[in-house]
Amino acid sequence: MPASMIERVETAYYRLPLEPMGDAGHGAIDSEELITVTISVDGAAGTGYAYTIGRGGHAVRALIDRDLAPLLIGQDEDKIDHLWRLMWQRLLFVGRGGLASFAIAAADIALWDLHGHMAGRPLYALLGAESRAIPAYGSGVDLPKPLPDLLRQVERFLARGFPGVKVKIGRPDPAEDAQRVREVRRLAGDSIDLMVDANMSWTTDEALQHIRPMEASRLYWFEEPTVPEDVAGHARLAAELDVPIAIGESLHSPYEYERYVAEHAVDVVQIDPITNGGITASMKALALADAAGLPTSSHYADELSAHLLCASQNPIYLEKHAFALDPYLVEPQRVVDGRVRPTESPGTGMTFDLQALAPYRE
Ligand SMILES: [Mg+2]
Repeated sequence: MPASMIERVETAYYRLPLEPMGDAGHGAIDSEELITVTISVDGAAGTGYAYTIGRGGHAVRALIDRDLAPLLIGQDEDKIDHLWRLMWQRLLFVGRGGLASFAIAAADIALWDLHGHMAGRPLYALLGAESRAIPAYGSGVDLPKPLPDLLRQVERFLARGFPGVKVKIGRPDPAEDAQRVREVRRLAGDSIDLMVDANMSWTTDEALQHIRPMEASRLYWFEEPTVPEDVAGHARLAAELDVPIAIGESLHSPYEYERYVAEHAVDVVQIDPITNGGITASMKALALADAAGLPTSSHYADELSAHLLCASQNPIYLEKHAFALDPYLVEPQRVVDGRVRPTESPGTGMTFDLQALAPYRE
């Protein structure tokens, strides 16, 4: 198939309301920004997106409109790896992560979707993978919830057949964290995997202090105990604790994953193709995990993650996030027996319902 030249790059911005929620690292969250990017060649188009937790989205869109679109127009659409490196280099001085990674991600996802439409193949096949059913876990952004509300949420997860559930930790009183986790374990029973997530809110010493009283609740993993800059701190926690350390949603490039894997600072490698810098970047993270023999999981981006995790050797869980694009997608992801499969339509399978999104466009 001959390469086609990119002719147009178009963006749109939406602010999607969320039920109020929160965690220990990011505070209160009441909306999600969605920035879509459509990249067109003669006769075909692909759509990608970035999301935020309610701030920064206009800057992401401006980076795409002002800096990435002029770079991409006129390029051959099929050299995705080359285009990723061009975008990375273009934003290097202000980037190496952060908002730049979100902008690059949106464009990179659009390129993969376009490639899938042109080839008539679903994303997982483009990634060299076969379709498989990945276990999914119910994930709450539930730190502010009083205990009865937290338990009701866990009941809903169990009713949906998820084999695992995750709750936020990081309440001011560590005894309260331990009690909430204990109650969730009691409700869920022994056969359910139970993860906890501190959203980077502690120092390494605090993380050790706070997690010890929770160990009796048999945790499946301990997510983002401390800030992502502290690779040595994560390595210490991974060495000292029996509970596996899971990170990835706050890593904004393959280079950051390289350090974590090389320094034995991560036990479960989590990908997020938006925050990591695109499908291209998340695939590199999965390859690093495979080479190190580490299991993998995902953060949000449920639909893309179902494709990406098929390309991993040991994908243990896909996160069904508290945010969900379901109301705005023509083909929402289905959970069957607590598992998800990637879509079979060409590209990412994510067709946004523009009518459903229209009230939220800015
Ligand atoms: Mg998390």
